[in-house]
Amino acid sequence: MSKMSTKIRAKKKFGQNFLQDQSVIERIINAFNPQKEDEVWEIGPGQAALTDHLVEYSDNLNLVEIDNDLVPKLQAKFAGKNNVTIHHQDALALKFSNTNTRIIGNLPYNISTPLLISFLYQATHIKDMVFMLQKEVVKRICAPAGIKAYGRLSVMLQYAFECEELFIVPPEAFIPRPKVDSQIIRLTTRENPPKVHLPSLEALVKQAFAQRRKTIKNNLKKLITEQQLLDLGIEPKARPETLTVADYVKLTNTYGSASGSPAK
Ligand code: SAM
Repeated sequence: MSKMSTKIRAKKKFGQNFLQDQSVIERIINAFNPQKEDEVWEIGPGQAALTDHLVEYSDNLNLVEIDNDLVPKLQAKFAGKNNVTIHHQDALALKFSNTNTRIIGNLPYNISTPLLISFLYQATHIKDMVFMLQKEVVKRICAPAGIKAYGRLSVMLQYAFECEELFIVPPEAFIPRPKVDSQIIRLTTRENPPKVHLPSLEALVKQAFAQRRKTIKNNLKKLITEQQLLDLGIEPKARPETLTVADYVKLTNTYGSASGSPAK
């Protein structure tokens, strides 16, 4: 497949590490498994490493790119393709309106956490997502309760998505090479997550993990008494990383949030 004509200098501020290893690119596309009828959104197409493949599979491919230098090149490259829509904008401002949206991206690592949280709030519009992230972030997202990597991001994303670690991608697969290993993750929207007011859950989880080495009773003392924890079957002396996602949902639904807004 043709590369975009002139060489682009990678911009650090946009987290640009361009994929160059065709076998890795194909593995990502296979993991995503795009189908004709899917509404696909690619975050940060860059120089079209993944896009060149996606365009062959999807009838409705949306590209979201912030870089003023890359957008005209993408427009020229896909000018004749009526299955491609280019959105020159910040992915953090994306608002999905349909359901069953599928999202893919080799994400800019500098904004990956806020981007994931933005998609979490739009989970009802999303079917699934396949992303490249820093390996360490993938480990944190997928970590089960009880291990060190389990934290705010694990609770929040596991609440709405099935989180699946896929393969690791070494720095050599990119130009320029990132300093860390990367990994592919698949997040599939859960069909019936328990009801919770998401901002309240987010605030409570933030408070619960404020000091990881303290007990849950201590971290939540402004909100919840020891007796209230016991009433929910939660050991007050437990560390925040030992509580399950279901425990945090239960706590939020019963006692509201650190921000004081009532749980819904
Ligand atoms: N998909 C390409 C690849 O795999 O080679 C490029 C991936 S590069 C890691 C991240 C891409 O996201 C870059 O093209 C960058 O310009 C773009 N990007 C960075 N911040 C963005 C934002 N806030 N909104 C949309 N795109 C962004």
